[in-house]
Amino acid sequence: MLSYRHAFHAGNHADVLKHTVVVQLLRYLGLKDKAYWYIDTHAGAGVYSLKEGYATKTAEFETGIAKLWEQKDLPAALAEYVEEVGALNPDGQLRYYPGSPYLAWRLMRDQDRMRLFELHSTEIDVLRHNFRDAGRRAMLFGADGFDGIKALLPPPPRRALVLVDPSFEDKRDYTRTLTCVEESLKRFATGTYAVWYPQVTRQESQRFPEQLKQLQPTNWLHLTLTVSHPPSDGFGLYGSGMFILNPPYTLAATMKETLPYLVDKLGQDETAQFKIESRAD
Ligand code: SAM
Repeated sequence: MLSYRHAFHAGNHADVLKHTVVVQLLRYLGLKDKAYWYIDTHAGAGVYSLKEGYATKTAEFETGIAKLWEQKDLPAALAEYVEEVGALNPDGQLRYYPGSPYLAWRLMRDQDRMRLFELHSTEIDVLRHNFRDAGRRAMLFGADGFDGIKALLPPPPRRALVLVDPSFEDKRDYTRTLTCVEESLKRFATGTYAVWYPQVTRQESQRFPEQLKQLQPTNWLHLTLTVSHPPSDGFGLYGSGMFILNPPYTLAATMKETLPYLVDKLGQDETAQFKIESRAD
């Protein structure tokens, strides 16, 4: 029984990091005419209301997108991300927040395709509703993304971004993510894989970055945005990381311009910081 609902967290600091990177990855894929696939193993509902329902209960978006929304001096990558959020909020009031499927849908061209997995029965219904007019360019599966992705790789155009974005409330998500990426690389070694993970005090989260680095000796980029010190009660998210395998060569430099700004605007105490690590081929 799945209880996680992304709406509680929509637009928080972790979504800002993840979605800024996803926008950059998709824009890069879109630089060449050749088609690509976007595969989201854990898609969520696609779009979230920030003014009613779950998001209002926690108001986590106030730790994230709300702090960037009206800034006039955003670095380029953040301006591009905020522009995509703005497309859902054309009157300038921040009412809706785009999930990764919606961001991808906005950036895809006619020749590109998306494949979305979402296991939660309510979330997949909302996702289907949100993509009801998408036609055959988008295929949605109410299924386990860790397993389902196997049948899709390698994708026909041999170009793809795979986002692996579980909730990690179930600690098996850590090992399942590692196995999923490891097996996916065997089927499709040249794909770009982006894994999001939470910075929380649990042991699995602490050792996860080192395990991700073992998946491939080179050609990866590891980004973290820590917004505060770990909570004293041992619970709660104090930052997050994005681990990208086969990243565009431009991404590290882009994030070097972007992450200091995020620390400045989203940092919650003096321990707020970012890290960028990479291994090039
Ligand atoms: N990728 C989304 C975004 O950025 O907007 C957010 C996804 S949210 C962090 C994780 C989602 O995975 C939840 O909606 C949850 O219901 C779903 N989920 C959990 N286990 C899953 C599984 N094994 N396969 C597919 N979806 C799963």
